[in-house]
Amino acid sequence: MSGNQKQDLHQEHNSIMGGYEISTELFLKEIECPVCHSKGQFNLEKLGDIQILKCRACPAKYEFAIKTKIFPKLVFDRGEREPFSYELTMNGDLIIGRDADDYDYIKIRIGPVHDLHSGENTYIRNPFVSRKHVMVVIDEEYKLVGGGELGKIVVKKKCFIKDLGSTFGTSVNNVLLEPNKLRELKGDDKIALSPNTELPQLIVFKEV
Ligand SMILES: [Zn+2]
Repeated sequence: MSGNQKQDLHQEHNSIMGGYEISTELFLKEIECPVCHSKGQFNLEKLGDIQILKCRACPAKYEFAIKTKIFPKLVFDRGEREPFSYELTMNGDLIIGRDADDYDYIKIRIGPVHDLHSGENTYIRNPFVSRKHVMVVIDEEYKLVGGGELGKIVVKKKCFIKDLGSTFGTSVNNVLLEPNKLRELKGDDKIALSPNTELPQLIVFKEV
């Protein structure tokens, strides 16, 4: 897929995904048959109460379970308080940084303007976190998973992280990130903001 097509698709997602609704048409265009590996070859048929996806290029068929979505999470360590879990349901760029007004506290925001969380959940006191510390880039891929004749579709998020040139840096699994360079996140990756200070902020990336 070319960059432009990908971009178009992305924009389409965003409009359709207003309330995180996922378009069936997009699934049909995007998913690859796990048996014959052809892309965009599925028909959707109704069989009683269930919907079945049938590959036009081979005999594979799959139960259509579009409601199954896998949203990864960022789990923030909050010391003595319970960890705060943030579900990555959206696409786009998520910035984690210290609040500009409330100097000490960490906030999560998407894009440059909108605060997603200004509630007490993300009020984690940490003066070592920069105002724009890391960006998590969230993309989406469609996948058929499950074995046997009946499979199911899931939306699987792809996430990348980059340090935005923060003062005290970021590490993933104890390896310091090079500033402004994307690194893909995998399940159970351990992110640390300001890892070598007296108050490293630990965040675990959970795939499911
Ligand atoms: Zn097939």
